Amino acid sequence: MSTCDECRSTFSKKFEESDERVRKIDEAHPNAVCEQHCVSVLSPGWVEDGEELYRAAFSPLHLETNGELKPDVFFSDAFQGGCSCDRKNYTSEDEVVSKAIEKAEKDNDAGKKHKTFSHLVAMSVEPLRKINFQCSGSRALAVYDTATEENRAHAEIFVVFSNSKSSKLGRAAKAGLRNQLLKAAEKIEISQ
Ligand SMILES: [Zn+2]
Repeated sequence: MSTCDECRSTFSKKFEESDERVRKIDEAHPNAVCEQHCVSVLSPGWVEDGEELYRAAFSPLHLETNGELKPDVFFSDAFQGGCSCDRKNYTSEDEVVSKAIEKAEKDNDAGKKHKTFSHLVAMSVEPLRKINFQCSGSRALAVYDTATEENRAHAEIFVVFSNSKSSKLGRAAKAGLRNQLLKAAEKIEISQ
């Protein structure tokens, strides 16, 4: 089993292909083993089952025309660079919302595709960790405490590729996972 120091150095690495980050970290530390370690020196501790996570949804990027989340976009980072969330215990709704509004403004100023903050999505950690791959029956998702200098509440959802039977997840398997994630997601309306 790897030690904290080893996984911290893997998690802090800049991967050349950032879309491959989840896969590369999973290769180095398979089967979600690092959930038992703090993976960031800045972290207040590993993410416990009883915790809740927030993730900001942006319009139109993450939303169908009827306002429902597009799971293929909203959760795509869980397969690639890591699906960023904030841990409710170490932040507040206000803080997450103001950071999301700031991020949208920054991205818009940088000339990226226009987006505005829509709402917060809350997810409980335990149901996420209970989602399994249909093919292997093993756990499909891990939640890691990837705190940063700017955000000690930062956590990420990762797909545990090493727990699936095939090295490449098929399109149907991916869609199935994203739909299960969607079921675990709860919309929080923010009145401003
Ligand atoms: Zn580890």
